[in-house]
Amino acid sequence: MRRRSKVLLPAETDWRQILKDERDLILKFYDYRCVDCLRQDVTLHVHEIKPRSTGKDSADRANRVPICSELHERIHQVDSPRAWVGRLVQARDRALYVMGKKLKDLIHAF
Ligand SMILES: [Zn+2]
Ligand SMILES: [Zn+2]
Repeated sequence: MRRRSKVLLPAETDWRQILKDERDLILKFYDYRCVDCLRQDVTLHVHEIKPRSTGKDSADRANRVPICSELHERIHQVDSPRAWVGRLVQARDRALYVMGKKLKDLIHAF
């Protein structure tokens, strides 16, 4: 006899933990590299390629990439996130190509 189990979210969903897990997943998927310079020996931040303000779902995994803190500061403080959308999409796709990975494997990771 099979037991049916209902999948219920706990009353108090720990969003902070979920976001941390998502962040860890993204870092791990990209082998702890900055998608732009491909370095691993740098402090990494997870950046949203298309800024939240465009209405894009911030949980969209394809939209989140690790970049080095140096580039992250430049994007937010010197340039603007919108100006970097195209370049970061290219950088992400190139990084995946170099690593021999497919974006769909990240999107369907769990
Ligand atoms: Zn970098
Ligand atoms: Zn950012």
